[in-house]
Amino acid sequence: MNALELHDVVKYYGRHQALAGLDLQVPVGSIFGLVGSNGAGKTTAMAVSAGLLQATSGKINLLGQGPFTPATHTGRISLLPQDSRMPLHSHVDELLMFYGRLQGLAEGALQESVDNVLDWVHLQDRRNSAVRTLSHGMMRRLTIAQAFLGHPELVLLDEPMSGLDPREASRVRHILLRRRGMQTIVISSHNLHELETLCDRAAFIEHGKLVRQDTIDSITRRGHSVTYKLLPGNIPIPALQKALPDTTIEGSTDGTILTIKFQGDPDEITRINAKVLEILLHSGIGVIEIRRGSDLESEYLAATS
Ligand code: ATP
Repeated sequence: MNALELHDVVKYYGRHQALAGLDLQVPVGSIFGLVGSNGAGKTTAMAVSAGLLQATSGKINLLGQGPFTPATHTGRISLLPQDSRMPLHSHVDELLMFYGRLQGLAEGALQESVDNVLDWVHLQDRRNSAVRTLSHGMMRRLTIAQAFLGHPELVLLDEPMSGLDPREASRVRHILLRRRGMQTIVISSHNLHELETLCDRAAFIEHGKLVRQDTIDSITRRGHSVTYKLLPGNIPIPALQKALPDTTIEGSTDGTILTIKFQGDPDEITRINAKVLEILLHSGIGVIEIRRGSDLESEYLAATS
């Protein structure tokens, strides 16, 4: 079951085409990364999904109940827009109460939901502060808290971590990871390392179209490839190929990268790794780093070059 589906969605701004027949399938409970260059259409995709903008054509299915309608979806989805700002003279507590009411929360449940999200984003001690006195990181955490008020089933976060320092970004990442499996979360970001650690699925979008969508494990081939970073030397490819006949072995021309790809059981990686290390060490090749699969950034760059 998918929490969000887009089929052949087209969006024009005047004569400019921002979405060119976009397809997306976001499974329920996933943390789903949207990746694409500036202007690829990520913000537009989120806006048409949430019903902020009307698609020119195509089908959108939100929570299995068609496109956004207030009657069906209010309180069940939320969107944190890119670079969203909070009214600076409001106070944290009253602002969240206001957004909670907009989400359709009943008065009885309002305070508890505000308490929960403030606790979750570690802003309990700033509940009476004016928004203008918060740091940038605290402000981002407040906007994220607002998006989770009332526990919506689908949360769309457009670049929630932009401009955060590494400590704040890591904090927000941990905050989001604690929601894994509890809600469906779609996140756009240009930080692919961040998305790789956070998401279980990702989609690459370019020029308003889907290039690829899959699990992070499949995209990075974590279960079926292992890469070795080596000190420069002559990689003993024939010996490796003889010892591991069922694998594909690739060495970089400068002798610093060795990749072994294989099919079948991902647990095979332990046996393959032991064999490769034995042969490399026996050949006097220094191993600097071992990595399962490749990384999201390399795969994105390769898929969209
Ligand atoms: P970024 O990573 O820079 O945030 P994005 O992937 O979110 O980019 P969008 O903001 O969805 O991309 O923009 C998609 C395309 O639509 C771009 O070519 C952009 O210039 C155009 N566009 C976006 N908003 C409008 C608008 N209100 N009016 C006209 N064109 C727009």
